Amino acid sequence: MSFNLPLSFPVFDGNEKKYSSQAIEAGHLATYGEFIGKFEDKLSRKVKSHQSVALNSGTSALHLSLVLLGVESGDEVICQSFTFCASANPIVYLGATPIFVDSERDSWNICPEILEDTILSRIANGKKPKAIVVVHLFGMPARMKEILEISQKYDIPIIEDAAESVGSQINGQFCGTFGDLGIFSFNGNKIITTGGGGALISRDTQLLQRARYLSAQAREDLPYYQHLEIGYNYRMNNMAAAIGLAQLEQLDSFVEKRRKINRIYRMLLADVDGISFQNEAPASYSNFWLTSILIDPKKAGTTNDKLRVRLLKEDIETRFLWKPLHLQPVFQNMPYFGGTISEDLFYNGLCLPSSVSLTLDDQERIVNLIKSTLVKSIYK
Ligand SMILES: *Cc1c(COP(=O)(O)O)cnc(C)c1O
Repeated sequence: MSFNLPLSFPVFDGNEKKYSSQAIEAGHLATYGEFIGKFEDKLSRKVKSHQSVALNSGTSALHLSLVLLGVESGDEVICQSFTFCASANPIVYLGATPIFVDSERDSWNICPEILEDTILSRIANGKKPKAIVVVHLFGMPARMKEILEISQKYDIPIIEDAAESVGSQINGQFCGTFGDLGIFSFNGNKIITTGGGGALISRDTQLLQRARYLSAQAREDLPYYQHLEIGYNYRMNNMAAAIGLAQLEQLDSFVEKRRKINRIYRMLLADVDGISFQNEAPASYSNFWLTSILIDPKKAGTTNDKLRVRLLKEDIETRFLWKPLHLQPVFQNMPYFGGTISEDLFYNGLCLPSSVSLTLDDQERIVNLIKSTLVKSIYK
């Protein structure tokens, strides 16, 4: 579906055309070509102290991360419940069980207190979780300080799902670089896109070397095709990397623009009773990939769905927040720890259009429609 004002639409105003023509002229569209290395170098320099492997999706990066940490059939892996299904699906690919954990009110990400209770409970149950998947939802950094302390205390590695938070930071350190492994997504509507793509980042160069090997069908370095292990076809192609390099050159300006969009929504909606925002902790710096609001139906007199339908009539796309995975039919038999925070966020939240191309006029129009819906509910 195409909207007059979509939720998140890419812009290709930089070197995308130039680099992709160069890739075509070189005849390198597949997993050989100069842009793959250039993209990886630029990404590694960007996130500092970390190396990266470019892959064909965020989901494959998550799958490889779990493989690298030795997750096997019968294992348990803790995963934030309030997230997109791709954070948990690769756990199931490996025959392991996701253990879902609720969020906390401020960042909307995994709650450190419940995380620790969950670990203790699973250990008491006879199995120590193999890994923890932490997500920085909508670009908002999770409470990494507390989460890292827990990870160290129980010696359980962290996979940071930074799919939505490329460019987000805590104290100047990039999301994705706190855990043992971090993953990014460059899918179509993420803050930077390669069409479809992802990356795995880590400080551990040996681990990344193994990721590179497994992602290219686990081919031995011999003049003929020899395989000692089962690998995957997960490498990023040169065409995607060409677009990705051009997008990466603009990441800082995209983040600035999305932060500005968030600031404007906050100002325009500041005086509205019943609407609140996802809040940054003091040292956190969100890329504000998607500005998201919470609607308190009692105070606002309307619901997230009524606002969604009203805006849809004007060809404006909004979206519910992620439905918590412990409420997804496909995951209904998986263990869950927590209360109703992620559930409440799902029932009351709405993501607003946040594209880099959004104008001030667009934002005023969106906010006026929201306000008029609220006003009409008072008159009823
Ligand atoms: C987009 C996304 C992914 C998956 O990335 P793909 O590149 O689409 O495979 C994983 N986790 C979260 C939180 C995402 O938003």
